[in-house]
Amino acid sequence: MKIRIEKEKDKKRKGQKKMKAIVFKEPGCAVLTEKEIPEPQPGFVRVRVKAAAICATDLEVMDGNIPANYPIIPGHEWSGIVDAAGSEEDRSWIGKRVVGSNDVVCLKCEACRSGNWRYCSEFEEIGFKRDGAYAEYIVAPAYGLCELPEQVSFVHGALCEPLGVALGTLEKAGAACGDTLVIIGACSIGLCILAAAKAMGMREIVVAASTKKRLGIAEEMGAVRTIATEEQDLVEEMKRLRPNGSHVVIDATGMERCIQQSLKLAEKGGTVALAGYGRGKTMGIRIDDIHINNLRVIGAGNNWNQHQKAVDMMAEGLVDIEHFATHKIRLEDYEKGLELARKRPEGFLKAVFVNE
Ligand SMILES: [Zn+2]
Ligand SMILES: [Zn+2]
Repeated sequence: MKIRIEKEKDKKRKGQKKMKAIVFKEPGCAVLTEKEIPEPQPGFVRVRVKAAAICATDLEVMDGNIPANYPIIPGHEWSGIVDAAGSEEDRSWIGKRVVGSNDVVCLKCEACRSGNWRYCSEFEEIGFKRDGAYAEYIVAPAYGLCELPEQVSFVHGALCEPLGVALGTLEKAGAACGDTLVIIGACSIGLCILAAAKAMGMREIVVAASTKKRLGIAEEMGAVRTIATEEQDLVEEMKRLRPNGSHVVIDATGMERCIQQSLKLAEKGGTVALAGYGRGKTMGIRIDDIHINNLRVIGAGNNWNQHQKAVDMMAEGLVDIEHFATHKIRLEDYEKGLELARKRPEGFLKAVFVNE
């Protein structure tokens, strides 16, 4: 899809408080514009955004492949400082460094009360249904905030969201210390899974990706082996390396060929976790790969409120995410950021908007 990038004129009127924001007006159209600074409703706070990472999912919103409420400010990987609260009892958050959940829910229904916010019938996600963090301010629910300790930078704080996806995926997969693991996809989720898996003591972690571009980073982060699938057949190579298969296999690509392969890499009775967005596609898999081998195939599509755990692990230095934020940019440079995220040149992993 050809992407239209417009620049909107500064419509600031005297005395009116405005903020810079990047808006996806409709699929295929991104603008840098000025918007009114949002006021937090009761139960919500306003956060001055310090860092907001560009996620591949945001490009799917830009391309119209994910349902979103256009016009929308995208961005669900963020950190900042609380500067206003919608209710008296939340004023204690003001001035605190935070990250937060993107889940806007009722907190009253059965799903919410059992902790399964994503199953709430009123569920709305920031960055998709509600305005996100590609801006100077964001409004987020106070109930989902986590304080960011001083030793974790704002840029790393923004990465609590994808790291939380990794933690949620490993938890859903029932991954355990000492288990062997194959990760397909060296995207930021794939590499966050690697960082989290190393921290929890999984072993012999193999990372596969189509090209070598990011496999060097995976090796630096402690992958025992990397496989570029345009050069080597993943299934054949793994059969040679690990004839009985791996305890856990995680697909972070959402691509048909990779999902088909992931089912052939797990040991009998092993687990395959699907952690990649399938872009709404119907795919063909060989059912007997699951049936005959008694595989557990599980879906792991979000972070399930793992922000606090992600923050705590970062604060303790347990996860290696030093390599992640390869490009720090300003909101004004959004064209460059979006293009980098789309083209993923050699050495690129993540672009992060940083506000002064
Ligand atoms: Zn994301
Ligand atoms: Zn609910």
